[in-house]
Amino acid sequence: MKILSDLNLDELQTELAGFPRFRAKQIFDAIKQGKGYDEIAIPASMKDELKKSYILKPLEIYKVLTSKDGTKKYLLKLYDENLIECVFLRQSYGNTICMSTQVGCRMGCKFCASTKNGLIRNLTAGEMLSTIAVVNADNGKSNERNFTNIVLMGSGEPFDNYENVVKWLDLITDKQGFNVSERNISISTCGLVDKIKEFSLLHYNVTLCVSLHATTDEIRRTIMPIASRYTIAEIVNALKEYAEKNNRRVVFEYCLIKGTNDRAEDIKNLKQITSGLLCHVNVICLNENGGSLRATTRAEALNFIDKLNKAGISATLRRSQGEDIAGACGMLRAKSLKQKD
Ligand code: SAH
Repeated sequence: MKILSDLNLDELQTELAGFPRFRAKQIFDAIKQGKGYDEIAIPASMKDELKKSYILKPLEIYKVLTSKDGTKKYLLKLYDENLIECVFLRQSYGNTICMSTQVGCRMGCKFCASTKNGLIRNLTAGEMLSTIAVVNADNGKSNERNFTNIVLMGSGEPFDNYENVVKWLDLITDKQGFNVSERNISISTCGLVDKIKEFSLLHYNVTLCVSLHATTDEIRRTIMPIASRYTIAEIVNALKEYAEKNNRRVVFEYCLIKGTNDRAEDIKNLKQITSGLLCHVNVICLNENGGSLRATTRAEALNFIDKLNKAGISATLRRSQGEDIAGACGMLRAKSLKQKD
């Protein structure tokens, strides 16, 4: 079975060449509105024909949790019964959708719930597009865009699903589709250096974020297995290339973990890591999720940021939304899988 949302309008027209040409556009618009076969006005005979070979809507809303602060966390069920997460964040400067790129993850970061059961499979470009379509439709009129920003900070490692993510970028920025500006998209990676370099050459104007979470390779290796493959110095070099080639500020994500990366020497190390690089440090308080790692308190985090700022480093605390609904990466899916066992 082919997923129709994997295709752009040209590809749809070619794929559906046996039907009147305007039908492809009709299907294209239905995908954008998150509609399934039951919701589109096409002849029954065409519907039956399409259903034999094509999936129109590869996922549907399985569960929604709404936080006191308005954040909505979605558990979406894919056509093969796999579950993924997506978060809709209501913000004064434009709503943000945080979405997944894989079912599970194989990066093995110690603090992250998404990776607990490993990688199940990659999402296709169309599944990622339909994630946006379905969540968009649930937050306003389905034929309008109800969000401004998209961040690839849900479950999965975007650069471990590189080709599909790049294809998705083309679909989501398509003028005939959602027409999202590249500048309003952030891709977060744990630091797959080879892919960062490859991506630099494509010249997308997206914000590249790297999960740093430690200031020495030695400590980074204790919490992020990927640190055994690439050093911080290699990441920084790749980011310099990205920042220069694309004229974009890059972002370091830095999740504060008590005693691991919130020490005085970490400020010094961060100064050295960020010097000469157009960058910002996004500090996050660890969401404890059952492991042995402990969070730095909010007051300590603010103090840490103050010191970073005094050292001349641009840094802010990422506002934590939806904490009461298991807002952190992979937490809801992990919870739901546990309940099933
Ligand atoms: N794989 C990508 C994107 C996924 S996660 C990456 O590693 O960047 C998005 C961000 O949430 C990452 O910075 C990730 O390290 C962070 N994160 C994961 N689990 C967390 C937790 N328990 N508390 C705080 N941040 C977490």
